[in-house]
Amino acid sequence: MIFGTMKKGKSAESRCPVVKRFSLGSTITISTANALLIAPINHIIPKTMRIIDKIIIHCAATPEGKDFTVQQIDQWHRQRGFRCIGYHFVIYRDGSIHKGRPIEQVGAHTTGQNAHSIGICLIGGCAADGKTPKDTRTEAQRAALVSLVKELHSQFPQASVHGHNEFAAKACPSFNVQKEPELCGR
Ligand SMILES: [Zn+2]
Repeated sequence: MIFGTMKKGKSAESRCPVVKRFSLGSTITISTANALLIAPINHIIPKTMRIIDKIIIHCAATPEGKDFTVQQIDQWHRQRGFRCIGYHFVIYRDGSIHKGRPIEQVGAHTTGQNAHSIGICLIGGCAADGKTPKDTRTEAQRAALVSLVKELHSQFPQASVHGHNEFAAKACPSFNVQKEPELCGR
């Protein structure tokens, strides 16, 4: 099932009574067929979805080898005055994919690009000193990122894929998305 194909009205609501509201940090499981990922995303797609023309990849700028959670990032972003976590998805070091801000809501991750983009954050991105930019992606994170981008891209075929560093003088996500054909499709 793709976005926009769910029937509107009460009958559609009653067919998916389980996910009434978005739950922060809930995990998305990706099967090779992507079937398991599609269903949870559809559950959080409202009747009117934003136009998405970019998928933007970030890192959390956390030290290599250390785990952090969606809840922690949510807390950091609230302390910075955001409504809640600014990213739509967070990929943990073990490759699990977690929901952040609902994708129908404008994120808070890339100045000037938030209105029509989806923000994905990878835990890590810094060396052990916590400040030197470093591509710290684990094999599991690399695979999960490719799967998530592929899935989102199939739902939003018009969207191009970028790193935060293409829009700001920052290292984030600590690698060049345009040099990874599996991500940027080039
Ligand atoms: Zn970033």
